[in-house]
This record gives sequence, C-alpha cells and structure tokens, in this order.
Amino acid sequence: MNVENLVIIGSGCAGLTAAIYAARADLAPLIIEGQQPGGQLIQTTNIENFPGFPDGVNGFDLVSNMRTQTEKFGARFRSGVVESIDLKKKIIDCEGDRIESRAIIIATGAVPRRLNIPGEEKFWGGKGVSTCATCDGAFYRNKVVAVIGGGDSACEEAHFLTRFCLKVYLIHRRNQLRASKIMADRVLSNPRIEVLWNTILLEICGKEKVTHLYLKTQDNEYDLSFDGVFLAIGHMPNTKVFENQVECDSEGYILANGITTGIPGVFVAGDCCDRHYRQAITAAGMGAAAAIAAERYLS
Ligand code: NAP
Repeated sequence: MNVENLVIIGSGCAGLTAAIYAARADLAPLIIEGQQPGGQLIQTTNIENFPGFPDGVNGFDLVSNMRTQTEKFGARFRSGVVESIDLKKKIIDCEGDRIESRAIIIATGAVPRRLNIPGEEKFWGGKGVSTCATCDGAFYRNKVVAVIGGGDSACEEAHFLTRFCLKVYLIHRRNQLRASKIMADRVLSNPRIEVLWNTILLEICGKEKVTHLYLKTQDNEYDLSFDGVFLAIGHMPNTKVFENQVECDSEGYILANGITTGIPGVFVAGDCCDRHYRQAITAAGMGAAAAIAAERYLS
C-alpha cells in the first residue's frame, strides 16, 4: 500500500489552509473532501471580517481561491467521506479505498443543528424548511419567511432574506439576541424584519409545502402563516467517525490541546474541535498551525 505523508480530512477553511501550508512544505498532502466540498463557507454570502478584504469576500470565491492555491503547490484532492478510521495506525477507509498515512489532520467541520420537531423532516429540502438562505432564499421572492435562532447566523440569514422576501420574522426563544452587536443592530433596524421574542417553534405545518408555523410563547400557543422557515440554531461537529478514538465533549467536539490530539501525528483544526470561535479566520489559523505541527512531526 502506498503510504501518504499527510491526509487532511475535510476541505473547508481549516482543511484548505492546512493543505496550502503542507503543500508548500512539499508534503503533497491528500485532501479527502467530505460531504460538502468547501465546507460551510460555500453557503456564506459576503464575509465582511476576513482580513484583507475591506469590501468583504464571497464565501464561494474565498474557498475556490484557497483550493487553487493548494493545487498550485501540489496538493491532491479525493472526493468522498471517511467511513472508518484507525487513528493510531493512521489507516483510513474511504469509499472502497484503504489509505495509509504518516500523519493526519482532522478538519471535518460541523453541520447545521436541527430542531427535531414535527414537520421538519416532512418539509425538508424544497418544501419550505432550509438551513441555508444563500442557497434557497431566492425561492421565497415576495413571500413571508421565518428564521429561527438569535445568533450571528440567524441575524445574517434574516438580513439576507430581506433581499427577496416581503417580510422576515426572526423567532427567538429568549428576549435577547446572542449575535454580535453589529449584526443585531442590522436586524433590529431593518423595517422588513420583525423579531418574535420569547417564542418557540413547536411544529411546522402544511400539506405539500409549509403554510404555517405553530408557535408558543409564555402564555399563548398560536398559528402564524409562513411560506418557509430557515433554521439557524447553531451547529454540530462532524466527528462521529472518530468516536471512541479521540476524546470528545458531550456534543461531539474533539477535545484537543490547541491543534494537538493525544495521538502522535494526529492533529485537528477548525469547527470539529472549536466550539467557541468558529470563524473562517480562526479555522484558517488552526489549519495553518496543524500543518506546521504535522510537518515538524514528519521531519
Ligand atoms: P450560535 O451562536 O450558537 O447561536 C445559536 C442560536 O440558536 C442561539 O441564539 C440559540 O439560542 C438558538 N438555539 C439553539 N438551539 C435552539 C433550539 N433548540 N431552539 C431554538 N433556538 C435555539 O450559532 P451561530 O449563530 O450559528 O453562530 C456560530 C458561530 O459562528 C458564532 O461564533 C458566530 O459569531 C459565528 N458567525 C459569525 C458570523 C459573522 O461574523 N458574519 C456569521 C455567522 C456565524 P440561545 O441564544 O437562547 O442560546
């Protein structure tokens, strides 16, 4: 079996930055792209806080440029997801292939969290429930939609949806937004967004498509008409395949000391291990650090 120098699992901001550094250090890393090549940034519109882009940068463009940069230095990509892995022996099974490597960087990112309420599954994908305004917002031109959540993602999605929608309701379970001040102010000053405070979504209702939401406040339960609902309630790390091999917290985030796991030659970067910052730039920084650590380990 051909033994790789370095396999990077995941092709989001963390994985691609690790790949740029590792490729430039002549390691010819192999990147296993995962379920969503390019990661979550693919679904982001304008990133306003990535250094070096005073006018913002489109998530898709940023990721595409990162990928071009990795390939310029000799990184290689393989589509597919890791089905099983032995981290100690560094043997990876990926859709019919067995890959052995000297070092591994885990950069598998996270996926949007679901509410697990009635109607969510039934109307998923094109029938009125989405986790991506960038992907699906244009389908709701002149419609009324809800965004669930009170963080930066919810505010960003709500603000973005006002490009298309007649009205956007931000439905939040508390009476205070978790979002950063700049994002919160943007939402609260947008006349097309109304915030429903202290409100919980109990059920997503309709026949073929979503027609209304069943909502609950402290002293009331009621129906409100909607054409769609966007869930923006945080994320879950993509770490199931590593369970029992590395230490994880109760939500599945890999517990690491920075980018170092307890296993020699196995490093982590980005949203799969960072429950606090979860920014493109912090993921990129961790990716760079993981690649430098992997290079030192290999030499
Ligand atoms: P988040 O900050 O964890 O916020 C999740 C929101 O969803 C919270 O308001 C939470 O309510 C709510 N929520 C969670 N579970 C819920 C449930 N079961 N039912 C109802 N509501 C629920 O996640 P995020 O907004 O995705 O942001 C993640 C990270 O990415 C953050 O660090 C954020 O700053 C960053 N981010 C940055 C930008 C930007 O700067 N442009 C854009 C997007 C995201 P509670 O408040 O009550 O907990």
